[in-house]
Amino acid sequence: SKFVVGLTGGIGSGKTTVANLFAAEGITLVDADIVAREVVAPGSKGLEAIVTHFGAEILTPEGELDRVKLRQRIFSHPEEREWLNQLLHPMIRQEMLAQVEKATSAYVIMVVPLLFENGLDRLVNRTLVVDISPELQINRTVKRDNVDASQVNNIISSQCSRSEKLARADDIIDNQGEISTLKQEVLALHQRYLQLSGTDNA
Ligand code: ATP
Repeated sequence: SKFVVGLTGGIGSGKTTVANLFAAEGITLVDADIVAREVVAPGSKGLEAIVTHFGAEILTPEGELDRVKLRQRIFSHPEEREWLNQLLHPMIRQEMLAQVEKATSAYVIMVVPLLFENGLDRLVNRTLVVDISPELQINRTVKRDNVDASQVNNIISSQCSRSEKLARADDIIDNQGEISTLKQEVLALHQRYLQLSGTDNA
């Protein structure tokens, strides 16, 4: 089966930027955030189960999942959050693996913001962490999303620490420099992954 690299990193570290550089080399991306939306899209089994559990008031007038309402419902109810995770996590895992199997590129990049936190590193052959300092995480996210530094800080605190991510990484991309430097780092890793995937499939 396919050689899979799990790409992760904290908020604003540059996961999307790095993933797009691999995609430019022809590598298929499987994105956990996109899959997480697909499994609750209108007409999905996931959305049907959520409506059965929470009632139709969890839908927007357009028939889509009302994420704000859902977040409110589970916010102060850990048992509801647990129910939702038990429903969605296996669906997300299964769909990501299905997309990996359909991919035709030499290897696949699985983009998973909470790769270690959610134990999805068990699904991949190799982990790649995009690393920047917390100061840069805050600067770049504030600039991108027009949010408060304190909000970004809260999210950083809720994610696994920089040191733990680095300790668990097979490969690390330092994204504290220029985009041109980043490109070179990605190209070097791409060559490495082509070799590794070739060896693995031989
Ligand atoms: P999130 O987890 O919040 O979705 P992410 O890890 O996908 O974030 P990106 O969106 O790729 O991160 O990058 C965060 C911001 O930093 C973006 O606005 C991006 O354009 C910018 N950025 C990424 N790399 C660099 C760099 N080397 N120099 C300057 N800006 C960068």
